[in-house]
Amino acid sequence: MRFKELEKCELCPRNCRINRYETTGFCNLRDKIKLSYYSLHMWEEPIISGENGSGTIFFSNCNLRCLFCQNKKISIDNYGKEISNKRFQEIILELQDKHAQNINLVTPTMYVPQIIYNINQIKDKIKIPIVYNTSSYENTNTIKLLDNTIDIYLADFKYFDNKLGEKYSNCTNYFEYASTCIDEMYKQVGKFEIKDNIMTKGLIVRVLILPGEIDDSMKIIYYLYSKYKDNIIISIMNQYTTLDKYNYDNLNRKLTEEVYSSVVNYAYDLGVRNCFIQEGDTQSDSFIPTFDISIL
Ligand code: SF4
Repeated sequence: MRFKELEKCELCPRNCRINRYETTGFCNLRDKIKLSYYSLHMWEEPIISGENGSGTIFFSNCNLRCLFCQNKKISIDNYGKEISNKRFQEIILELQDKHAQNINLVTPTMYVPQIIYNINQIKDKIKIPIVYNTSSYENTNTIKLLDNTIDIYLADFKYFDNKLGEKYSNCTNYFEYASTCIDEMYKQVGKFEIKDNIMTKGLIVRVLILPGEIDDSMKIIYYLYSKYKDNIIISIMNQYTTLDKYNYDNLNRKLTEEVYSSVVNYAYDLGVRNCFIQEGDTQSDSFIPTFDISIL
């Protein structure tokens, strides 16, 4: 199978316009699907993980590459294994057979044509929702391709101020790209639906609070709530973990409980009710999966 979108790749805002059958661009990926791990995963929001776990498929590499990424081994260090389309289909069905609540595609942006093709090949066999788990540094035209393929969007909203995107993720116009693609996601899936405590369709937007940048997080929450009210779910995350020594002092600190509570209270006072908050010690590297290509 040959994918024309890869011949002049503009799948993400990096817009490398290179031929991925011949060379690589910013994401360092060729035309094949490359994975670093797959498993049943219990650490997503409870309506995603449920009792059985989310059928999580970790794609290799990343089109954003944040300085503080928790999954550097796969996002930056190129860890992973190329697999065939047939094997990718087998993995989806294997996770479903293991009673996964959904198929959770993590960092899928660079593989959208391959994902659509493979899901279409086994569409009749897939009985659980497909989740698209993204940094939201996306071209809206790429998200448009996913209409009727994705049931649930699990989208980060990382920065309100584009200067923070430049500083921490080396990207331009993050706000414009993220807000426009989230708009398209909402257009496709509409107000969220939950059945038996499991999400069946809709949009969850994750706001990870960075130490020292809480004003930015509050602006994101204000923006999301003004626009979508309680038709989407906002997930306010405190799990920022320092894994390295950074040149920015604020990134070398943990988020305090006090600061986290102030953002949660801000959201509540604003009127936000459909919201997830994190409790307990989530700021630990034990929450980072052990990637392993030997199972692929
Ligand atoms: S998916 Fe990769 S090659 Fe394509 S535009 Fe994005 S970074 Fe460049």
